Amino acid sequence: MTDSLVFYSKPDPFEAWRDALTPHLGDQVRIENADAVTDVDDVRYALVWMPPIGFFDRFPNLDLVINLGAGVDRLVAREDLPDVPITRLSDPKMGQMMASFVLFAVLRHAREIPYFQAAQVRKEWAYKHPRAASDITVAVLGLGQLGALAASEIARQGFNTHGWATKPQALSGVTVHCGDDALDALLRDADIVVCMLPLTPTTRERLDASSFAAMKPGAAFINVSRGEVVAESALIEALRSGHLSGATLDVFQTEPLGSDHPLWSIPNVLITPHLASVALPKSAAPQIAANIKAIQNGDALSNEVSRVRGY
Ligand code: NDP
Repeated sequence: MTDSLVFYSKPDPFEAWRDALTPHLGDQVRIENADAVTDVDDVRYALVWMPPIGFFDRFPNLDLVINLGAGVDRLVAREDLPDVPITRLSDPKMGQMMASFVLFAVLRHAREIPYFQAAQVRKEWAYKHPRAASDITVAVLGLGQLGALAASEIARQGFNTHGWATKPQALSGVTVHCGDDALDALLRDADIVVCMLPLTPTTRERLDASSFAAMKPGAAFINVSRGEVVAESALIEALRSGHLSGATLDVFQTEPLGSDHPLWSIPNVLITPHLASVALPKSAAPQIAANIKAIQNGDALSNEVSRVRGY
């Protein structure tokens, strides 16, 4: 009998993940697509992205669930999760991809690209003297595996960089603030606010009308984590009223964003379809294999998710 790993993801190609994992798992673990499992009793590991409800009931001998991505909100909230450890991905290239997207978004606002795009439509040479990065304050909300990397990249570019998390951490070039009381002051001071908070029961609509009201007039908002962390109607109001100067949004309360959604038509808002970062098979395969070996040997897991915290 060979242990097997079952793969399920609608957006991710099975063959690419199988080919990336095979050199690391050898013939010790059979890698099978969910619709072609040879023997459900052999399945010990599940590598999944948003499997259908009831999926896990098919596999009575699971030892480990690996979330095929960084955000686990859609997994940990489920009632049909087996009582086994859950890990998430945190591969270096995924972090790099996220940090570069966030840096692009920060620069878009710091260098006032929406202003120049609007001027270009009018065929107008609209010179505006650039501000120094050190005069621009950026607040990164959430300093996790992706958030910390993004904040470091922003700091490396010379921005006055602040971060927000539940507990202190040392991050070169980044002033770290903790706890609910710190948030409003941080929002008041920031020229650009970047949301990198995971969606949990505590963070759902954590950025509400009062948060947007607390933001500096003319501030820009970037969201690359989850749409549900933001009270979307309050964000729309803050943009429409001109209190916020613009936004770069990769995630939304409802995805795909409907064609009649008001965000499509607000000036200075850039919308991308939830692709700031993705899991990359070759980069993620070694850590998936390492966790499978850790389970087999009874060793500690990396990137384990806390069901209680929700991230
Ligand atoms: P992590 O789970 O590693 O870290 C979460 C961070 O948020 C931690 O710093 C944590 O604080 C902080 N945090 C959590 N709850 C609170 C709270 N109530 N108040 C203050 N801080 C809080 O997340 P990652 O950095 O890896 O990823 C962030 C999110 O990005 C993911 O959850 C996912 O939703 C999203 N994502 C989006 C993608 C896209 O393409 N748009 C792709 C991949 C991920 P502490 O450090 O103190 O624990």
